This record gives sequence, C-alpha cells and structure tokens, in this order.
Amino acid sequence: MVAWRQRLSQPSAGHATIVAVSPLFEEWLGRSHGALTYRMTQVLTGHGCFERYLHRIGREEAPGCHHCADSPEDTVDHTVHECPAWEGHRRVLVEALGGGGLSRPALVQAMVRGEREWDAVAFFCEAVMLEKEATERQRVRTSHPGRRAGPGRHHGRRVSRDNSRPP
Ligand SMILES: [Zn+2]
Repeated sequence: MVAWRQRLSQPSAGHATIVAVSPLFEEWLGRSHGALTYRMTQVLTGHGCFERYLHRIGREEAPGCHHCADSPEDTVDHTVHECPAWEGHRRVLVEALGGGGLSRPALVQAMVRGEREWDAVAFFCEAVMLEKEATERQRVRTSHPGRRAGPGRHHGRRVSRDNSRPP
C-alpha cells in the first residue's frame, strides 16, 4: 500500500490519477472495510487492461476496444461509461451508488461513503476487468500462436502472469 501510494505521487501515475485519488487518500486508508484490489486499482489509475494504455506501453498494436463493433478507443471512461459490453454491470453499479455519476472522482467519493458503495465499485471492477483480462489473454494466445512452442513459449505465459500482478 505504501509503495502504491508512492507510485501515485510520481508524475508517471498521470494527472487524472492524482486528481481522482489523492484528496481522499487518507480517509480511504482509514476505512475498516474493503481492500483495494488490483482490479479496482486498474480502473482508478487507468494502468491496466485498457487497450489505449496497452497500446501506449507497446503491448497492443491498436488502442481500440475489443468489445465494441466499431472499436472506439478503450479507456477507463469508455469502459465505465460507454462500452455496451458492460451495460448490465453498469446498471447494477448506478443503482447501488444512487446518482453522483461514474467519473473516477465520483467513484472514489462513493467508495469512502459506505460499505455498500465500496462493494458495488469493487464488484464492478472485478467483474469487468476479469472479462477484459480473459479477452486479452485469449487474443495474445490466438494472435501469437507461434509463441506457444519453441524458445518463445514462455512469453505468452509471462504476459498473462503480469496481467494478474499489481503494477
Ligand atoms: Zn467497448
């Protein structure tokens, strides 16, 4: 947690991250319920299984969403607000939060408001990111079949292990 917090204070974490997270961080750490999961962190920082981010760090050839027909850029906002693939999860989340919007600052505010809200955000992040990670792993396997055999065969596995580890 301390390491993660230090990382957040570094410029590389991105301006949006700091704006979204920092003002409430003390309160956040003081909550007795809930732990920040890796998948919640992905959504709140944008550093995770989002195609635009993966494209930026050279892990994806294109920034488009793999869950939309016309492949708009896959960002946190696209995932949380727009992507039709997550409409069901989104409806549940909106209902649990009872207004206030789904921007990252709004999500953080909801999370520190109560256990119910924390759990709703946690559930949304877990459910959506789990599916996004599964799709990504599938794509890595099918688009680089040669890597499954020979000296490069560990590459695909290393990528998927990295996906399940905190950044
Ligand atoms: Zn989409």
